[in-house]
Amino acid sequence: MPTSRLNIQATSGKQYIYSFTEGSAEGDATMKNLLGGKGANLAEMANIGLPVPPGFTLSTEVCTYYYDHSQTYPEGLFEQDIPDALEKIETALGKKFGDPEDPLLVSVRSGARASMPGMMDTILNLGLNDTTVEGLAHRSGNPRFAWDCYRRFVQMYGDVVMDLKPQDSKHSDPFESILDEHKKKKGCSLDTQLDTDDLKAIVSAFKAAILERTGQEFPEDPHVQLQGAIGAVFGSWNNERAIVYRKLNHIPGYWGTACNVQAMVFGNMGDRSGTGVAFTRDAATGENIFYGEYLMNAQGEDVVAGTRTPLKIRHLQEEKPDIYQQLDCIRTRLEQHYRDMMDIEFTIENDRLFMLQCRVGKRTGLAAIRIAYDMCKEGLIDEKEALMRIEPDQLNQLLRPVFDQKEKDRAISEGRLLATGLNAGPGAATGSICFSARQAQEVKERGQQAILVRIETSPEDIEGMSLAEGILTERGGMTSHAALVARQMGKVCVAGCGELDIDYQKGEMRIEGTDIVLKEGDSISLDGTTGEVIQGEIKTRNPEVIEVLADKTLKPEDAPTWQIFDQVMQWADHYRTLKVRTNADQPEQAELAVTFGAEGIGLCRTEHMFFGGQRIDAMREMILADDIGDRQKALEKLLPYQRDDFYGLFKAMGSRPVTIRLLDPPLHEFLPQEDAEIEALAKKIGMAFHDVKTRIDNLHEFNPMLGLRGCRLGILHPEIPAMQVRAIIEAACIIKKEGHDIIPEIMVPLVSTVRELELTSEIIHKVARRVMAEQEIGVTYLVGTMIEVPRAALTSGDIAKAADFFSYGTNDLTQMGLGMSRDDSGQFLPVYQNYDIFPHNPFESLDQEGIGRLIKLSAKEGRSVKSDLKLGICGEHGGDPATIEFCHTTGINYVSCSPFRIPIARLAAARAAIG
Ligand code: PEP
Ligand code: MG
Repeated sequence: MPTSRLNIQATSGKQYIYSFTEGSAEGDATMKNLLGGKGANLAEMANIGLPVPPGFTLSTEVCTYYYDHSQTYPEGLFEQDIPDALEKIETALGKKFGDPEDPLLVSVRSGARASMPGMMDTILNLGLNDTTVEGLAHRSGNPRFAWDCYRRFVQMYGDVVMDLKPQDSKHSDPFESILDEHKKKKGCSLDTQLDTDDLKAIVSAFKAAILERTGQEFPEDPHVQLQGAIGAVFGSWNNERAIVYRKLNHIPGYWGTACNVQAMVFGNMGDRSGTGVAFTRDAATGENIFYGEYLMNAQGEDVVAGTRTPLKIRHLQEEKPDIYQQLDCIRTRLEQHYRDMMDIEFTIENDRLFMLQCRVGKRTGLAAIRIAYDMCKEGLIDEKEALMRIEPDQLNQLLRPVFDQKEKDRAISEGRLLATGLNAGPGAATGSICFSARQAQEVKERGQQAILVRIETSPEDIEGMSLAEGILTERGGMTSHAALVARQMGKVCVAGCGELDIDYQKGEMRIEGTDIVLKEGDSISLDGTTGEVIQGEIKTRNPEVIEVLADKTLKPEDAPTWQIFDQVMQWADHYRTLKVRTNADQPEQAELAVTFGAEGIGLCRTEHMFFGGQRIDAMREMILADDIGDRQKALEKLLPYQRDDFYGLFKAMGSRPVTIRLLDPPLHEFLPQEDAEIEALAKKIGMAFHDVKTRIDNLHEFNPMLGLRGCRLGILHPEIPAMQVRAIIEAACIIKKEGHDIIPEIMVPLVSTVRELELTSEIIHKVARRVMAEQEIGVTYLVGTMIEVPRAALTSGDIAKAADFFSYGTNDLTQMGLGMSRDDSGQFLPVYQNYDIFPHNPFESLDQEGIGRLIKLSAKEGRSVKSDLKLGICGEHGGDPATIEFCHTTGINYVSCSPFRIPIARLAAARAAIG
């Protein structure tokens, strides 16, 4: 309640309120932290002379004060500062708040630094009461309009401020029930069919309900109304949905919201009034057209409520050419001023246009790249700014298959969303459920699409994975086998979907908590961008860039989006200093990566090369061999395959560097697990079933990630790296003889001490020298190591003495550094994220504080021994924009990522360099 203003001090010298009126404002667009996005942009629009109804913004500091001081306000705020600010509005409009003849009405809206659409509260038409409503009726000459405003105000105020809400989800909204009752009594179905007397009766009924249910009278005093509304807006910062939204969008609670109090303008005053929302360019395609919708004789909420169908903005050109002309000028003015695509809200009151909001418009990935490109060509922004306008991950929309959005929405509304897992491989895929690689092959042979569904995948599934459109697993995290292989192949993947219960024997999968059972062959769709698993088929399509680069079904000259993409990538290459390589182990993958811009291979996982055709048999023979003689024989069978593989990779990469990692995984991963398969293998290699089974059991490890793998394999069985090095050097010699130069980079996995690296290097050099002597030609090669065990990172100074390069294996480094399994952490990481233990999944985006510190220390120590030590990163983090920025600032030479992430990495590296 306002007290006498004469004796009250204003709020201790600090400015808590910022006024604005057409032509001048106390704030501006740079003051988002203090005024919130809405308040800052209202001030900016007022400053540049746009028609903004006058108002004022209570800063976010009022909100933080409110929460820090048991929900009270700075001294003098309601007694002096707000009345002063109101007076400025009154002077600008020649109206008075609470005036029975011609009342000033205001809106009270929230507005945080970051947009939180619909999460907090708004109150419109504030200042109406039983007296002022008559003044409004008289002034507007439209009593029905005045009473409709009053009805809406009492309803909003009763709900938001006085908390008269449905009791629970089974009860309907008390105000809507009263409205419906009156409509029923009158025999009409639309609000617009209610006349003034009906509205009067409804207002009385609303007030009676408020009194009855809350025990409080609806306040008649506009100043009391205003204080109540401001309290409700600040209170809504901490309502449940706002808290959830903030969590999801990483908006800190301490920011607080601002509160905007602004003179009302009415789009619902009659046929000369209206309201609309628009984007200065098409937010879906980026096309430079004015894009929006409006409704005549309506308030903002009617446009969004969907009860009437809004008209396209171009109709306004015919219906109200003058207004359209003004709006179109404002559109250009805003774009010139903000140099960005803007999202605006406007109201027309009796043929006068008012701007109620503007903010930088949200857009799709396609629109982001097109707008950035066009604005650069139009001279609004330069190349650097254009690159900073495109979020690297938005490029996924240009590189991955997408669903027909309408079909997907329909599927979800029909209740076909089955479960949600980790969004491990972005894109959209649809096909028949296959529980094994063999089934996937059969489905493909019938010309149909397959979705490989496994509890988890192992190297044995690689062939099935390559045939399937998408991969779905019940277990496994973001760097599980399924996730990283899928990404490398460019396959859609949803991993670690714990709600599935897969039964291979029965050939079915149940969805936990439901009675849904899906059988082999049933249709299923995966959204790898969101992690959603949907029952039934949904149409997908490949984006234009993929049709040009991967499918080669479209010529570049016929592909305008590809042309824009290509230009933007060239800009990115110009500004970045970080190199971008790819993780690839097949020549086709390498070729595709080169078309995406790969500058080398940063990781060839040789274990992925052993699964095609007859190689797996020779590999298994090698693993099961009793003695070195038998192992040698099996290795000799593998040698030509490996040599051909490396030759193919070198050829595909031209003169670009190729890093080949010696065999890394535990050997049992190559062996069959089911009796029938073991039997078949035993027959094939002439061993007894029992012997093979015992050998497999012996190879089983309780913690396979920490067992006989990596360089330990080669130290125990030097003949394995010897065969691989022979194949690498022989292939390089052939290439050299063909007149090309290639510098293979041989990489040793899972090193934790320098001695391990030295021992393995001895084998490498011995074999390399022998091969070069046999071939009578010399090739240059490098020997380096993965840094993926914390001890290696900590002793990098020693290790650097024996290494030509380091490559950070951040998958294992994260696993071992956090003591968190890369396969099982999907079970608890989502909960961890809810508690803000990690801001992001640390297997997806590098834990910079912890694992990042190990990398920084390692890089520093390594370079202190060898100043030109080449540093790369080849874990899955190599394709993550935040990690790429970290790599840039840490002085890493290159990142290596799956082929489809290369454009994302190029852009992220450029943005990191631009800063
Ligand atoms: C790593 O650990 O980061 C890595 C690249 O190796 P892999 O994922 O094959 O273990
Ligand atoms: Mg590793």
